[in-house]
Amino acid sequence: MHFNVKTTKPQQFIDITHKVLEAVKTNNVRDGIAVIYVPHTTAGVTINENADPDVVRDMISALDKAYPVHGYYLHFEGNSHAHIKASLMGSSCTVIIQDGKLLLGTWQGIYFCEFDGPRNREFYVKII
Ligand code: ZN
Repeated sequence: MHFNVKTTKPQQFIDITHKVLEAVKTNNVRDGIAVIYVPHTTAGVTINENADPDVVRDMISALDKAYPVHGYYLHFEGNSHAHIKASLMGSSCTVIIQDGKLLLGTWQGIYFCEFDGPRNREFYVKII
């Protein structure tokens, strides 16, 4: 299943858990695996806390401290920080489907991670 996501900030984590669940329900799978895949080089996907929004803010600022937007990089496009952060988060993640639900912890959510926005982005969910 294909999804579009419109990011609104240069760096932003967007909770896409409900979209992944939508793909699970559409496929009518009770037990299986959901693969979430992001086909971009400056955006990624990760699972982390969805209770306190400060957690994702802290993650963005910590990544920024380690890989500043205006650091010394060779890449002509000037967005190397975004490429590095995207690889750190990863381009896919896998979630177990059990009894028709995503087997996530109480405080876990699935986040689309924008590092070079705002842009029109996309991601895929494959249910097996
Ligand atoms: Zn680039």
